[in-house]
Amino acid sequence: MKVYGTPAEALEDAMRLSAAMTRKLAVAGLPFGGGKAVIAVPEIPGGEQRRALFLRYADLVASLGGTYRTSSDMNTGEADMDVIGERTEYVFGRSVQAGGSGSPAPPTAVGVYHGIRASLSHVFGSDDLEGRTVLVQGAGGVGSPLADQLANAGASVLVADIDPGRAHAVAARVGGAALPADQLYETDCDVYAPCAVGGILSVATVPRLRCRIVAGSANNQLAEPEAADLLHARGILYAPDFVINAGGAIAIVGLEQLGWTESELDTALARIGETLRQTYERADARGISTAAAADLLAEERLRAG
Ligand code: NAD
Repeated sequence: MKVYGTPAEALEDAMRLSAAMTRKLAVAGLPFGGGKAVIAVPEIPGGEQRRALFLRYADLVASLGGTYRTSSDMNTGEADMDVIGERTEYVFGRSVQAGGSGSPAPPTAVGVYHGIRASLSHVFGSDDLEGRTVLVQGAGGVGSPLADQLANAGASVLVADIDPGRAHAVAARVGGAALPADQLYETDCDVYAPCAVGGILSVATVPRLRCRIVAGSANNQLAEPEAADLLHARGILYAPDFVINAGGAIAIVGLEQLGWTESELDTALARIGETLRQTYERADARGISTAAAADLLAEERLRAG
């Protein structure tokens, strides 16, 4: 759910996000297609207005008869999925009390954490976070637990959020530092972890980066395909978004549809690091960007399916 400039922008975003979900589930080896719904609002609603909107949306999802199952993402959460669940069973990520597996954001953060370690290993020859600096953009559902894991493993964590209160709260909790949201591109760090909005990697922003690795949860990080080539040319390792941020999708599908145990889920989340390692090796072997290597992997899996 997001405020868009025009309905056309919302539609374009929905199509891009849906394509990314298709690639995400293919690369994660889950036996389903991918889809995404966008709710375009003039402002983020609350209270009764919010509830009424999600009930209307639930009726729309129900009308698709299970060919599409919805879940939470930006600006939506467990409580909203519980409202949707009042009208349709085709919803992932309801609260545990309401029969779901909870928010996909924490397992997404676990997957990103594995992805950051695999990326460090590729660039520095060691996945040790001790002494590394990671800049987390977005102190929300994913960024906040990710900051905890990174700090627990010994990293110095920098946090940037358009809501400075959130950035300061998370930074204080993990013993890190808060940054103004408009200074993050120029900040020296080992890893830049975008966990807020998409479109942050463009031909205008990539030249400003002062990191060795970009690895975060945001969907559709590349504003344009050329940004991937520019990252490659600058020697900045980019963890393709739909590979590294699959943890939430893996968790809700695994726990709610495939009947996995928590330990099976842990194994599947750790595999995100392994998939990234393979993607990096392929990109190196062929001299192509990591984004191109991940697209190839997705296409191969889709063809095989
Ligand atoms: P969220 O809404 O809980 O948190 C986003 C945070 O980013 C908020 O604190 C917000 O204030 C901040 N923010 C927004 N614009 C910003 C900007 N320009 N600069 C800095 N901070 C900004 O969202 P989330 O669930 O944590 O998801 C974060 C990203 O990860 C999104 O792109 C989402 O699509 C993607 N993602 C989320 C999941 C999931 O399971 N939640 C799964 C895969 C991908």
